[in-house]
Amino acid sequence: MRILLIEDDEMLGEAVRDGLAQEGHAVDWVRDCAAALGAVASWSFGALVLDLGLPDGDGLGVLRWLRQNGRGTPVVIVTARDRIGDRIAGLDAGADDYLIKPFDIEELGARLRAITRRADGCTDTLLTAGEVVLDLRQRMVRYQGTPAALTAREYAVAELLMRRAGCLVTRAEIEEELYGFDDQIASNAIEVHIHNLRRKLGPGFITNLKGRGYRVDNAG
Ligand code: CA
Repeated sequence: MRILLIEDDEMLGEAVRDGLAQEGHAVDWVRDCAAALGAVASWSFGALVLDLGLPDGDGLGVLRWLRQNGRGTPVVIVTARDRIGDRIAGLDAGADDYLIKPFDIEELGARLRAITRRADGCTDTLLTAGEVVLDLRQRMVRYQGTPAALTAREYAVAELLMRRAGCLVTRAEIEEELYGFDDQIASNAIEVHIHNLRRKLGPGFITNLKGRGYRVDNAG
Protein backbone atom coordinates (compact mmCIF):
# COMPACT_ATOMS: atom_id res chain seq x y z
CA MET A 1 0.00 0.00 0.00
CA ARG A 2 1.04 3.57 -0.49
CA ILE A 3 1.91 5.34 2.76
CA LEU A 4 2.59 9.01 3.43
CA LEU A 5 5.21 9.46 6.15
CA ILE A 6 5.26 12.91 7.78
CA GLU A 7 8.37 13.16 9.95
CA ASP A 8 11.05 15.86 10.31
CA ASP A 9 13.60 13.74 12.17
CA GLU A 10 15.99 12.45 9.49
CA MET A 11 17.22 9.36 11.34
CA LEU A 12 13.80 8.22 12.49
CA GLY A 13 12.27 9.05 9.11
CA GLU A 14 14.85 6.95 7.31
CA ALA A 15 14.33 4.01 9.65
CA VAL A 16 10.54 4.14 9.22
CA ARG A 17 10.74 4.59 5.45
CA ASP A 18 13.19 1.70 5.04
CA GLY A 19 11.27 -0.56 7.43
CA LEU A 20 7.94 0.00 5.69
CA ALA A 21 9.55 -0.31 2.24
CA GLN A 22 10.92 -3.68 3.30
CA GLU A 23 7.36 -4.78 4.00
CA GLY A 24 6.55 -3.92 0.39
CA HIS A 25 4.89 -0.54 0.95
CA ALA A 26 5.49 2.48 -1.26
CA VAL A 27 6.51 5.27 1.13
CA ASP A 28 6.34 8.97 0.29
CA TRP A 29 8.22 10.98 2.90
CA VAL A 30 7.59 14.65 3.63
CA ARG A 31 9.07 16.69 6.46
CA ASP A 32 6.59 19.45 7.29
CA CYS A 33 2.87 20.30 7.41
CA ALA A 34 2.89 22.30 4.17
CA ALA A 35 4.34 19.42 2.13
CA ALA A 36 1.98 16.96 3.85
CA LEU A 37 -1.08 19.06 2.96
CA GLY A 38 0.17 19.33 -0.62
CA ALA A 39 0.59 15.55 -0.84
CA VAL A 40 -2.79 14.60 0.66
CA ALA A 41 -4.54 17.16 -1.53
CA SER A 42 -3.11 15.64 -4.72
CA TRP A 43 -2.66 11.94 -4.02
CA SER A 44 -4.54 9.16 -2.36
CA PHE A 45 -2.77 7.14 0.31
CA GLY A 46 -3.58 3.85 2.02
CA ALA A 47 -2.45 5.28 5.36
CA LEU A 48 -0.57 8.16 7.00
CA VAL A 49 2.18 7.96 9.62
CA LEU A 50 2.07 11.36 11.28
CA ASP A 51 4.56 13.09 13.58
CA LEU A 52 3.06 15.94 15.63
CA GLY A 53 6.03 18.25 16.31
CA LEU A 54 6.82 19.59 12.85
CA PRO A 55 8.93 22.65 11.91
CA ASP A 56 6.02 24.66 10.51
CA GLY A 57 3.28 23.63 12.92
CA ASP A 58 1.38 20.86 14.64
CA GLY A 59 0.76 17.62 12.71
CA LEU A 60 -2.75 17.58 14.16
CA GLY A 61 -3.55 20.34 11.63
CA VAL A 62 -2.95 17.85 8.79
CA LEU A 63 -5.22 15.31 10.47
CA ARG A 64 -7.97 17.90 11.00
CA TRP A 65 -7.75 18.98 7.35
CA LEU A 66 -8.20 15.35 6.24
CA ARG A 67 -11.24 14.74 8.40
CA GLN A 68 -12.82 18.14 7.59
CA ASN A 69 -12.50 17.21 3.92
CA GLY A 70 -14.18 13.88 4.40
CA ARG A 71 -11.05 11.76 3.97
CA GLY A 72 -11.19 8.57 5.98
CA THR A 73 -7.54 7.67 5.32
CA PRO A 74 -6.25 5.68 8.32
CA VAL A 75 -3.77 7.71 10.40
CA VAL A 76 -1.23 6.52 12.97
CA ILE A 77 0.27 9.30 15.08
CA VAL A 78 3.90 8.77 16.11
CA THR A 79 5.22 11.25 18.63
CA ALA A 80 7.41 11.74 21.66
CA ARG A 81 4.50 13.39 23.45
CA ASP A 82 3.29 10.90 25.99
CA ARG A 83 0.99 13.02 28.09
CA ILE A 84 -2.46 11.54 28.24
CA GLY A 85 -4.02 14.86 27.14
CA ASP A 86 -2.03 14.81 23.88
CA ARG A 87 -3.13 11.28 23.19
CA ILE A 88 -6.78 12.20 23.72
CA ALA A 89 -6.42 15.27 21.47
CA GLY A 90 -4.95 13.08 18.72
CA LEU A 91 -7.68 10.48 18.90
CA ASP A 92 -10.37 13.16 19.12
CA ALA A 93 -8.97 14.79 15.98
CA GLY A 94 -9.58 11.53 14.13
CA ALA A 95 -6.40 9.45 14.51
CA ASP A 96 -6.90 5.70 14.31
CA ASP A 97 -3.93 4.78 16.45
CA TYR A 98 -1.10 6.28 18.47
CA LEU A 99 2.52 5.19 18.98
CA ILE A 100 4.92 6.79 21.45
CA LYS A 101 8.55 7.24 20.35
CA PRO A 102 10.73 5.31 20.50
CA PHE A 103 8.77 2.46 18.96
CA ASP A 104 9.49 -0.72 17.10
CA ILE A 105 9.10 -0.53 13.30
CA GLU A 106 7.53 -4.00 13.28
CA GLU A 107 4.89 -2.81 15.72
CA LEU A 108 4.15 0.16 13.48
CA GLY A 109 3.76 -2.28 10.56
CA ALA A 110 1.36 -4.45 12.56
CA ARG A 111 -0.72 -1.46 13.66
CA LEU A 112 -0.94 -0.20 10.08
CA ARG A 113 -2.21 -3.61 8.99
CA ALA A 114 -4.78 -3.60 11.78
CA ILE A 115 -6.18 -0.13 11.05
CA THR A 116 -6.28 -0.65 7.28
CA ARG A 117 -8.17 -3.93 7.81
CA ARG A 118 -10.68 -2.04 9.93
CA ALA A 119 -10.92 0.73 7.32
CA ASP A 120 -11.68 -1.90 4.67
CA GLY A 121 -14.40 -3.33 6.90
CA CYS A 122 -12.43 -6.53 6.39
CA THR A 123 -12.42 -8.52 9.61
CA ASP A 124 -11.81 -11.73 7.70
CA THR A 125 -8.03 -11.97 7.33
CA LEU A 126 -8.00 -14.64 4.60
CA LEU A 127 -8.51 -13.85 0.92
CA THR A 128 -9.08 -16.81 -1.39
CA ALA A 129 -8.92 -17.15 -5.18
CA GLY A 130 -8.98 -20.70 -6.45
CA GLU A 131 -6.01 -22.55 -4.97
CA VAL A 132 -4.39 -19.35 -3.71
CA VAL A 133 -5.02 -18.25 -0.11
CA LEU A 134 -3.60 -14.96 1.16
CA ASP A 135 -3.35 -14.37 4.91
CA LEU A 136 -3.46 -10.62 5.60
CA ARG A 137 -2.42 -11.01 9.22
CA GLN A 138 0.63 -13.15 8.57
CA ARG A 139 1.38 -11.51 5.20
CA MET A 140 1.74 -14.96 3.71
CA VAL A 141 0.41 -16.68 0.60
CA ARG A 142 -0.28 -20.39 0.18
CA TYR A 143 -0.64 -22.10 -3.18
CA GLN A 144 -2.19 -25.57 -3.13
CA GLY A 145 -1.68 -25.54 0.64
CA THR A 146 2.05 -24.80 0.49
CA PRO A 147 3.57 -21.44 1.53
CA ALA A 148 4.84 -19.55 -1.53
CA ALA A 149 8.11 -17.61 -1.33
CA LEU A 150 7.06 -14.15 -2.53
CA THR A 151 9.10 -10.96 -2.41
CA ALA A 152 7.54 -8.02 -0.55
CA ARG A 153 6.48 -6.40 -3.84
CA GLU A 154 5.07 -9.62 -5.29
CA TYR A 155 3.04 -10.00 -2.09
CA ALA A 156 1.81 -6.40 -2.43
CA VAL A 157 0.68 -7.02 -6.03
CA ALA A 158 -1.06 -10.27 -5.02
CA GLU A 159 -2.81 -8.53 -2.11
CA LEU A 160 -4.01 -5.62 -4.28
CA LEU A 161 -5.38 -7.95 -6.98
CA MET A 162 -7.03 -10.28 -4.46
CA ARG A 163 -8.65 -7.44 -2.50
CA ARG A 164 -10.23 -6.41 -5.77
CA ALA A 165 -10.91 -9.91 -7.08
CA GLY A 166 -13.23 -9.95 -10.06
CA CYS A 167 -12.26 -6.36 -10.97
CA LEU A 168 -9.80 -5.06 -13.50
CA VAL A 169 -6.74 -3.40 -11.92
CA THR A 170 -4.70 -1.19 -14.25
CA ARG A 171 -0.93 -1.18 -14.43
CA ALA A 172 -0.95 2.48 -13.28
CA GLU A 173 -2.94 1.49 -10.17
CA ILE A 174 -0.41 -1.23 -9.34
CA GLU A 175 2.49 1.20 -9.87
CA GLU A 176 0.83 3.76 -7.60
CA GLU A 177 0.41 1.12 -4.90
CA LEU A 178 4.00 -0.12 -5.14
CA TYR A 179 6.15 2.89 -5.79
CA GLY A 180 6.58 6.28 -4.15
CA PHE A 181 7.12 9.49 -6.11
CA ASP A 182 10.90 9.32 -5.76
CA ASP A 183 11.25 5.72 -6.95
CA GLN A 184 12.62 4.92 -10.39
CA ILE A 185 10.33 2.38 -12.03
CA ALA A 186 11.69 0.09 -14.72
CA SER A 187 9.24 0.10 -17.65
CA ASN A 188 8.63 -3.65 -17.36
CA ALA A 189 8.64 -3.84 -13.54
CA ILE A 190 4.95 -4.70 -13.20
CA GLU A 191 5.13 -7.34 -15.96
CA VAL A 192 8.04 -8.97 -14.11
CA HIS A 193 6.06 -9.11 -10.84
CA ILE A 194 3.05 -10.58 -12.68
CA HIS A 195 5.24 -13.13 -14.45
CA ASN A 196 6.76 -14.23 -11.14
CA LEU A 197 3.35 -14.46 -9.45
CA ARG A 198 2.08 -16.69 -12.27
CA ARG A 199 5.17 -18.88 -11.95
CA LYS A 200 4.77 -19.21 -8.18
CA LEU A 201 0.97 -19.26 -7.85
CA GLY A 202 -0.10 -21.00 -11.04
CA PRO A 203 -0.54 -19.68 -14.59
CA GLY A 204 -4.29 -19.24 -14.15
CA PHE A 205 -4.01 -17.01 -11.05
CA ILE A 206 -3.93 -13.72 -12.95
CA THR A 207 -5.76 -12.88 -16.16
CA ASN A 208 -3.98 -10.36 -18.40
CA LEU A 209 -6.47 -8.13 -20.22
CA LYS A 210 -4.15 -6.92 -22.94
CA GLY A 211 -3.42 -3.20 -22.71
CA ARG A 212 -6.02 -2.70 -19.99
CA GLY A 213 -4.71 -4.38 -16.87
CA TYR A 214 -4.93 -7.50 -14.74
CA ARG A 215 -7.58 -9.40 -12.88
CA VAL A 216 -7.78 -12.19 -10.33
CA ASP A 217 -10.98 -14.23 -10.45
CA ASN A 218 -12.62 -15.53 -7.29
CA ALA A 219 -13.33 -18.88 -8.86
CA GLY A 220 -9.71 -19.22 -10.03
CA1 CA B 1 9.20 16.00 15.05
